[in-house]
Amino acid sequence: NVDSSFEYFQKHDIQSLYIPRKRFSHKGTYGHSVIIGGSYGKIGAVHLSGKACLKVGSGLVTLYVPECGYTPLQSSLPEAMVLTDGEEEYISKISLSIKPSAVGIGMGLGTEEETIQAFGNFLKSVKAPLVIDADGINILAKHLEFLKDMPKGTILTPHPKELERLVGPWANDFEKLEKAMRFSETYQCILVVKGANTIVISGEKGYVNSTGNPGMATAGSGDVLTGMITGLLAQGYNSLNASIFAVYLHGLAADLEVPAHGYESITASSMIDAIGKAFVELF
Ligand code: AMP
Ligand code: MG
Repeated sequence: NVDSSFEYFQKHDIQSLYIPRKRFSHKGTYGHSVIIGGSYGKIGAVHLSGKACLKVGSGLVTLYVPECGYTPLQSSLPEAMVLTDGEEEYISKISLSIKPSAVGIGMGLGTEEETIQAFGNFLKSVKAPLVIDADGINILAKHLEFLKDMPKGTILTPHPKELERLVGPWANDFEKLEKAMRFSETYQCILVVKGANTIVISGEKGYVNSTGNPGMATAGSGDVLTGMITGLLAQGYNSLNASIFAVYLHGLAADLEVPAHGYESITASSMIDAIGKAFVELF
């Protein structure tokens, strides 16, 4: 019996969350984001997240990937730095030589046994604000013992299948949100419940998005969102505001693509290209 309440967030709400860029600033002012993920055949997920992270204004971005990601990412995303862990096809350990301002983890990560252990150990040591997506969520759902090590305020961004793995099945939307709220309260985390009307859950409060369209139901769409949330966290937005701002902007970027692309030819990459237009549209 959750005493829940919901509100829609719209353009003026997002405008009020915006942290303006300062005249006398440098890239250090806007944080160092680290995106951790990728495995053989799924390095593209890290490219999409990393690029989206840059496009929301993160000062620096480092991508942490298995060895096979090194050359493609250095070629495709010159603004990003790349660190690898020595294992060719999947992440086997996570040791960061840098101090991140924010971390996004899980996109294309895979679920190799060594990856699972590395993920569990990382949760115990991470100090920066954290977003967990995709296989990161799948690992948590199978290893509930890891949840006690998840830092407070961590953001999880499940699509419907990932949410079901995490909280179990539901009979209707009401029950789904109730389960998400209970999970959010129990583990002191934010759940970005993705779908046609994404709802950001923080305890018993739900924030319902007003942007987005069915063109977003496409490969890599969620990886873009995770990169955007990470990039806003790195710039000092708190977990709730980063989630709400990114969800709105992600949907707005896709909406701005519709006149030129229709729904069908919107891709994760074209959404990234429209992030700039979305920022301009906000003001
Ligand atoms: P993922 O499944 O992880 O790639 O995430 C999909 C992303 O696209 C999420 O941000 C969803 O909210 C969004 N999305 C998927 N389908 C729709 C839809 N029919 N309408 C609006 N947004 C959608
Ligand atoms: Mg996804």
